[in-house]
Amino acid sequence: MVERELKQSGADVTSIGKSVCGNDIWCAHRGEYGGKQLIITAAIHARECYTALVVLRQLHDFRYGRGGVYFIPLVNPDGAAFFESGNTFSHPFLRTNAHMRKSWKANADGVDLNCNFDANFGTGAQQSTTAPAAHGYVGKYPHSAPETKALAEFTLSVMPAATVSYHCMGGELYWQFFQDQARRQRDNAFAAAVAKHIGVKKVDGELDSAGGYKDFCVQKLGIPAVTIELIKRGNHPFDPSDYEDDIQANADLPNFILDYLYGE
Ligand SMILES: [Zn+2]
Repeated sequence: MVERELKQSGADVTSIGKSVCGNDIWCAHRGEYGGKQLIITAAIHARECYTALVVLRQLHDFRYGRGGVYFIPLVNPDGAAFFESGNTFSHPFLRTNAHMRKSWKANADGVDLNCNFDANFGTGAQQSTTAPAAHGYVGKYPHSAPETKALAEFTLSVMPAATVSYHCMGGELYWQFFQDQARRQRDNAFAAAVAKHIGVKKVDGELDSAGGYKDFCVQKLGIPAVTIELIKRGNHPFDPSDYEDDIQANADLPNFILDYLYGE
């Protein structure tokens, strides 16, 4: 579904790499390649896969101006297909855990991709198990999962000015990861502007986060990076229709952020 939508959008579409089961991780670019770049990702957690719909709307609504945006709506394609339809791609770990699919967050090997990045790896509160699982396993070493490695390498090749990562749930935004004072001030202002624009609550502090994409972008690239938890209340699993308000509220965010980064 994502591949077709991206290719029909008229944007430049590339694969940044393959998942454990050999599915492409698709990326679409809109705007200039020369100016400031923004990377927007979604669905790194399987059961949050419909956050992809928010990014597809953003791609559709993007207005050309200064700078450009890389849209990566489905970072964990295996997990999303497993959650949505029970497709295991004949992968042994998914096949033995078929009853878990509606609470699944990890990739096909049972690695929680948003704990697998090289940023204080293995020190976070999300690590709840030392073996592959539906969620809470950080992996053997940073970027051990092909999906994480692909996104990390792609991000370093682009060197974006900021990144946005969509998750659910909570109606909150996280931005802090041990920035020094000057960067903390800059990133706090960025986070506050984004949170206000889309109507979520900015939450300060590291919150025992480690190994996340946002953490990696803050620590290794020195850029403002935010995690946005969509859907204010409810219980997993969510349906596409549960994201309607968020799709509307976030449709213009890429243009808003580019304007912000250019000081307009
Ligand atoms: Zn998540």
